[in-house]
Amino acid sequence: MLSEWLAPRAAALESSGLTRRLRPRPAGEDLIDLAGNDYLGLASDPRVVEAAVAAVRAWGSGATASRLVTGTTELHAELETALAAYAGHEAGLVFSSGYLANLGVVTALGGPGTLLVSDEHVHASLVDACRLARSRVEIVPHNDVEAVGKALADRGEPHALVLVESVYSVLGDAAPLTALADIAQQNRAVLVVDEAHGLGVTGDGRGSVAAAELAGVEHVVVTMTLSKALASQGGVVLGPGVLREHLVNRARSFIFDTGLNPAACAAALAALQVLEAEPHRPAAIHTAAAKLAAACGVPPSAGAVVSVPMPGPRETVQAAELCLTNGVRVGSFRPPSVPDGVSRLRLTAHAGLSDAELERACAVIVSAVKEVS
Ligand code: PMP
Repeated sequence: MLSEWLAPRAAALESSGLTRRLRPRPAGEDLIDLAGNDYLGLASDPRVVEAAVAAVRAWGSGATASRLVTGTTELHAELETALAAYAGHEAGLVFSSGYLANLGVVTALGGPGTLLVSDEHVHASLVDACRLARSRVEIVPHNDVEAVGKALADRGEPHALVLVESVYSVLGDAAPLTALADIAQQNRAVLVVDEAHGLGVTGDGRGSVAAAELAGVEHVVVTMTLSKALASQGGVVLGPGVLREHLVNRARSFIFDTGLNPAACAAALAALQVLEAEPHRPAAIHTAAAKLAAACGVPPSAGAVVSVPMPGPRETVQAAELCLTNGVRVGSFRPPSVPDGVSRLRLTAHAGLSDAELERACAVIVSAVKEVS
């Protein structure tokens, strides 16, 4: 029954070049990686790895229950305090992923009395949060501050959230945060900024909200993932203490989910300590991203993500395969993972890449793109 149901769908995907396949990654692979999000190269840093190992020894292999039962360890509390202090907020609440952090904050503040104004390019987790929130949703053109203002001003709802990313995850461009925070304030709305690609990358690591001096401002809330620059897993919502309290009581993706694994907390905490102690690391990401963008003839990135448009989905996969054959792993993004429908290679710059590695990567990518285009 299932095969009759699904076979035509699989065939349709295959014929349009959009089938996705999992490719297990062996340990200790010797490749130049421009596909993963380990922006600071901390996933294999001994300080981070040893912190995770020590946490497993101290707390065991899992969190044992949801955060409100036994799933909150001292490490969770320490991580929340450290993340809030680092990024400049009053309080933080850790979720077991960035996806669930976004679901949590939007659904806990959403509902019939809250309008959600969402940039058309936001991540799937914010799109799904809008669907779950039981709010009216207005999707506005990408980075269009005027459209945000109009949607907010015309609303009947007493409350409103504006949903954006600080650095967009596929195109790699930045949101106009100062203008968005101003328009939100003028219209008594809360600006929610997903800093998944800002933490550890922009604003010397503290993110774009801190760089724009908006951290700690009451109507600005930040979400982050711990899975990219912090080389771990998990997510966090940062903002006023009163918001943290509300989420503990109302965010279903917090209340009904097993707490973040203590080992992941320890790894994120250790990575954050490295980032604080070695603040030069984010600058190396920008240097690498600028070199990649220049070599590929695309605009510079606001963060680590360099986006290279391709003629179509098949060419994208072929170019990525060619790169892999030549020792360079790149991301291949096709619909529905591309907000503008344009398939592309997605290159993520990492702080640890040597000049020689970057040069080799640029040569391999440029030649692969030329060959398939
Ligand atoms: N927001 C953005 C912008 C992301 O890129 C991602 C991760 N791909 C997430 C949220 C989700 O974070 P996580 O992987 O921790 O669930």
